[in-house]
Amino acid sequence: MPAPFTPDAPRLLNALASGSDALLQRRFWSNGVNQLLQALGEASGVSRVWIFQLLEQAPDGLLQDYVFEWAATPRYRQLTQKRFRFFTMAIDDPEYANMVARRQRGEPHTCIVAQMPQGTLRENLESQGIRSMVTVPIMVNGQWWGTLGFDDCEREVAWEGSGLHALTIAAELIASAIYRHQLNSRKRQVELLQRVAACGIWEIDPVTYATWCSEALLATLGYPQDYARLPLRRLLAHIVAEDRGLLWALLRRCSGACDTSCRLDVRLIDQQGETRWHELVIEADYDACGRLARIAGLAIDISQRKQGEVQAQAAAEFDELTGARNRRGMVRYMRELRQSQTNQPRHYQSAYLLLLDIDHFKSINDRYGHPAGDALLKILVKRLSAELRPEDCLVRLGGEEFAILADAPNHAKALQLAERLRRCIAHHPFALEALPGIGGTSHAEQVNVPMTISLGVATLHFSGSLSHCQSMAIAQADQALYLAKESGRDRVVAYWQACVSVPESD
Ligand code: GH3
Ligand code: MG
Ligand code: MG
Repeated sequence: MPAPFTPDAPRLLNALASGSDALLQRRFWSNGVNQLLQALGEASGVSRVWIFQLLEQAPDGLLQDYVFEWAATPRYRQLTQKRFRFFTMAIDDPEYANMVARRQRGEPHTCIVAQMPQGTLRENLESQGIRSMVTVPIMVNGQWWGTLGFDDCEREVAWEGSGLHALTIAAELIASAIYRHQLNSRKRQVELLQRVAACGIWEIDPVTYATWCSEALLATLGYPQDYARLPLRRLLAHIVAEDRGLLWALLRRCSGACDTSCRLDVRLIDQQGETRWHELVIEADYDACGRLARIAGLAIDISQRKQGEVQAQAAAEFDELTGARNRRGMVRYMRELRQSQTNQPRHYQSAYLLLLDIDHFKSINDRYGHPAGDALLKILVKRLSAELRPEDCLVRLGGEEFAILADAPNHAKALQLAERLRRCIAHHPFALEALPGIGGTSHAEQVNVPMTISLGVATLHFSGSLSHCQSMAIAQADQALYLAKESGRDRVVAYWQACVSVPESD
């Protein structure tokens, strides 16, 4: 029996160098693998170099696929053979079981077939005409991914020492190429996810305050995609000041190990200077001593959702026809007004409620038609709003009845406001683009509709429950309004003046 042949290690090293270049430079990693297999095959002079991918392992068998091959001559080619597509091998032979166990542990396996004990593995190798074989497992991220194998059908090769080490390095090169490929596809998936879910990823080192932001988040904030580190100060400057305070409070809670995960809606100022709502998902990691090691999370663009919420709120709290608030909107306004007044001296803790009703609106409707009446209601709201301050609240209570909540420093100022409103309606007729047939007209023309309103004014005292304050003020203003109507309409009556009308000055 001839002495076993020992492969030339320097030639193998050269093959490794050119193969690893190919792995790094080829656009498709699989081309790089093929080139590495060829370099190794030619340098070692074996008949065939192959890679099996492990698809499934069970205690009694393995399912593998024959994924790469280099063959010295066409007659040694096996990759195209049907029997190697997704082939199963039962582990029913101690030799084979031993080889599989070595591969699972990440160890190489060598054999000279003629010296092997009889069994399934030897039969299998003989059926392929193999005289000697070496295999090295490809371990990707600590897991047995597949096997790199060298078959020699002509020689009995003793793989050992530097030659065998070179093959182990080749398996590691392939493993890192596979790992890189997997990471790249994960990266693309994460990018897709970020794009579809309109979300960015961020991370802060709580010790150095070094930050990292994903490309998507950098793009939102208007920084180049290769920006490695954004100073924390600059990152936080993109958050509206009011929300920044809330975020700091949350981050402080994280540093005290109170919370490992939390969420907060904040307004981010994007690259165009526009404010966009983002939901921050915050995850904190702690080291073995319980110290905060890392804060990371997502920034999800929820502007659309917030816009939907605002629209839903508008639909729920504002009158569809005129755009004035409805009763529900009034309750929210009152709640906010009371909140804003809690820090003021007691004698300031009140506001006024003006109840306003269009005079003889039924006859206006009868004369000009219901659509014209609707148009008049809209103009009325516009005109009243123009007379009010932005912080005052105009409510359509129903039909042609409105309420105004305003905080005035005293009774006189509240009455002045009511009187101003009355005049701005009574002194200027409402111009209507009349529809044909309206008001007896046969063609479209402008119609001037005179209109007056009556107002009842009462004080809104913030004592007791909100609904109590509201119904008290409405009942009193209603009483005053009734008297305004009774005493001739187009006038203002204050509840506290026991229904004494304000002197007419026009
Ligand atoms: P008064 O001076 O006593 O308030 O007389 P009025 O006719 O205004 O009062 P009344 O309560 O008798 O009638 C209110 C009218 O308001 C009846 C109704 O057709 C009209 N109205 C209520 N809601 C709407 C609306 O949304 N659009 C239009 N066009 N008319 C409305
Ligand atoms: Mg009326
Ligand atoms: Mg009415």
